[in-house]
Amino acid sequence: MGRPRPTQIKAALARSSLKRSLHLAPPFLLDDYIPRYQLLTSVEASKKRSRAYAHLRNCNLCPRLCGVNRYETTGMCLIGANVKVNVIAPHFGEEPCIQGHNGSGSVFFSGCNLRCSFCQNHDIAHQRNGMDLTPEELAEWYMKLQEVGNVHNINLITPEHVVPQVALSILHARELGLRIPIIYNTSAFDSLASLELMDGLVDIYLPDFKVWSPATSRRLLKAEDYAAAARESVRAMHAQVGDLCFTGDGLAKKGVLVRHLVMPGKEAEGELIMKFLAEDLGRDVFVNIMEQYRPAANVGKPKRRAKVVETGGVEAAQKDGEVRYAEINRAVTDEEVSTVRRAAERAGLWRFNDPPKHDGFAI
Ligand code: SF4
Repeated sequence: MGRPRPTQIKAALARSSLKRSLHLAPPFLLDDYIPRYQLLTSVEASKKRSRAYAHLRNCNLCPRLCGVNRYETTGMCLIGANVKVNVIAPHFGEEPCIQGHNGSGSVFFSGCNLRCSFCQNHDIAHQRNGMDLTPEELAEWYMKLQEVGNVHNINLITPEHVVPQVALSILHARELGLRIPIIYNTSAFDSLASLELMDGLVDIYLPDFKVWSPATSRRLLKAEDYAAAARESVRAMHAQVGDLCFTGDGLAKKGVLVRHLVMPGKEAEGELIMKFLAEDLGRDVFVNIMEQYRPAANVGKPKRRAKVVETGGVEAAQKDGEVRYAEINRAVTDEEVSTVRRAAERAGLWRFNDPPKHDGFAI
């Protein structure tokens, strides 16, 4: 064997310095990645198709368990057999390992199975704005995002209530030549039945674990069983795809990334969520503790009270100076965010969405 040429040495050094700069433990670094939906057999794909249609006829896709036939009517999520999509575009507001340089191919679905009083996307989630798309049309949009947008992944935002349609669209897109990872970007208010349907189709789960106590979720999310459902869902997601893994370009390709939006005055709930993640999913789970909460949707709107008018009827009248959800009508403080972060570190978590302290990628 002859001596390596200078160009070969240069290439080897470039490869080794790339890997070194990632500062990743080997289990989280992938040489290459093939999306899970590409690995399904045709028999598995047809079974998923028929299960997807069955779910739509008797909907149990989320913990609301409406049991409606979505070809004829709608349940709490307000969406029938076709999806309603508000925005489809490359998106640059995600974690660096998700958006990369070209953006994340985001699909914002209209409707939602939660009713968060503080919803940061309320114009999309609480209203039926947008265009109706069949699963096949949705698949064609994924292809446009891949081919024209050159995005790094398909990011399905608030998909909990349209899981069958999404499953059908991914199966169709794989026939059209889709080859980038699928992200399931969820409130974590999912049912095990829908996660089972997504098993083999999703590469990255991005659950937002919001609050812990039933009293808080009843008041703020209108779902008393939220945390119980979220715990069960996050466990099932982790069992499917494991911890977040990256390829050498710094992009996440597979695994779970848990988000937690710190809420004003609710840092004790954030602490319990971090403890749960470390104890149940393990200390290697990747976490993004988010500080961008702002009052939105119904928070801070004037409170109204019933007022008897001259004709004998009752009208809503504004209460002087009082606002709805006053306890969360402010931004979070640095101290509240730090409290949750310290609790996460105490629990043993160490993989956070921090800016890099080295010259590598933010992973
Ligand atoms: S997705 Fe949930 S809210 Fe929508 S109809 Fe099905 S069970 Fe009801």
